[in-house]
Amino acid sequence: MTPTTEARRDLTKLPKAHLHLHFTGSMRAATLRDLARRYGVRLPAALLDGDPLRLPATERGWFRFQRLYDAARACVRSEDDMRRIVDEAAQDDAAEGSGRLEIQVDPTSYAPFVGGITPAVEIVLDAARTATLAHGVEVAVVVAASRTRHPLDARTLARLAARYAGDGPGEVVGFGLSNDERRGGTEDFGPAFAIARRAGLASVPHGGELLGPGHLHEVIDALEPDRIGHGVRAVEEPRLLDEIVRRGVVLEVCPASNVSLGVYARDEDVPLGALVGAGAPVALGADDPLLFGSRLVAQYESARHVHGFDDDTLAGLARASVRASRARPSTKEQLERQIDGWLEAAPGAEGGTESDTESGTEDGAGPGTARGGDATPGLSSRS
Ligand SMILES: [Zn+2]
Repeated sequence: MTPTTEARRDLTKLPKAHLHLHFTGSMRAATLRDLARRYGVRLPAALLDGDPLRLPATERGWFRFQRLYDAARACVRSEDDMRRIVDEAAQDDAAEGSGRLEIQVDPTSYAPFVGGITPAVEIVLDAARTATLAHGVEVAVVVAASRTRHPLDARTLARLAARYAGDGPGEVVGFGLSNDERRGGTEDFGPAFAIARRAGLASVPHGGELLGPGHLHEVIDALEPDRIGHGVRAVEEPRLLDEIVRRGVVLEVCPASNVSLGVYARDEDVPLGALVGAGAPVALGADDPLLFGSRLVAQYESARHVHGFDDDTLAGLARASVRASRARPSTKEQLERQIDGWLEAAPGAEGGTESDTESGTEDGAGPGTARGGDATPGLSSRS
């Protein structure tokens, strides 16, 4: 993991999977402004100025984050708004080399506008299928419960998620638990996760961002995660980190989120090198670009420029993200082949999109988004 001078391949062309992105938090600032105008909602300046949040890792800091998130969510009031968000998230992901997006949604907030949680989920799933065809990135869905609601609500959501379980575009691949880690008893959500696991869904709760190892032990014991949203604070207890590595639990690390929420003061304090060095599978994610001001590639840029990862290690992160996704084996194999191609190509010749073929190679490197002739449906077309 030494910084290299010669290897500077284009990270937007590194094929990857995006496993930690929230529905509302994925929204473009321009879209939020547009929706706010339409509904006559006055938004807090912090949502409009384009600067990433910088909040202390306290209850008050989180409260402010949540208030801004709620203000953004209050601008999503129709089926069209929901479809637009999924479509734009997929389009933005595809432009960043993502071949697989597993977008996370708690349908509860949108339910009143579309006739209930079932239609809310179905709209997102249908939009995910449409976006897959339109943008050439497979879009699957994680249904997430909130720690601030009753655990029985989580069970209802888990049963609903189970009805749409699958691994393809427009299917539910996982069940999550989001919101303030300090709220709710983790073990109380165990039954909901048991329902989800029985249906074959991945267990993908948040944990170990605002709270440390004690919380992660609870999450691992009660929710049996396949992947943990964040989990970065596992570095504080070597035995715990060893257990995470031994179990093969994937950490969805979102560096911009950690710094914005004050978990770490500086970019270089995010323990990315320590986690990867310990052998933990890490999948980088953007979490809430709307609030944190950066999308997926920026997290890889941070790994390169702040943490000194070379192209081999960056390709390893991309490979880990693909393997940790719930995509079908054919999709994973295709993306992994394309990652190999990215790495085998000389810097500057990693392949690319149809719009910049003059600088690209023709044989196989770029993300699935760009290869019209590739075999996997859903990875081959792009508008
Ligand atoms: Zn998150």
